[in-house]
Amino acid sequence: MSTETPKMNRRDWLRKSALFVGAATVAPLIFTSPAMAADKMAKAAVNYRDKPKGSEMCSNCKLFIPGSTPTAMGECKAVAGKIDPKGWCDIYVPKA
Ligand code: SF4
Repeated sequence: MSTETPKMNRRDWLRKSALFVGAATVAPLIFTSPAMAADKMAKAAVNYRDKPKGSEMCSNCKLFIPGSTPTAMGECKAVAGKIDPKGWCDIYVPKA
């Protein structure tokens, strides 16, 4: 026979429910934070190089974010660090 009263069970249930609701509310904020968005692959992991592969280069890749001028270093949506517009890597995605 249980020694717990129904009032204690309800209190535990309410406390656990509050924790669950709190976690469910905070989790999307954590996983969509700028820190998570900045989680990119290392250049070495995608064999990045500062030279094009034929006509394929970062400046005509869908993932490239240009710098202030056409020849300035830019960024990549998937690869960390400064990216040369004349660079290239294994995950190159041609612009349509
Ligand atoms: S995915 Fe590779 S080729 Fe495309 S912009 Fe990023 S580093 Fe350059």
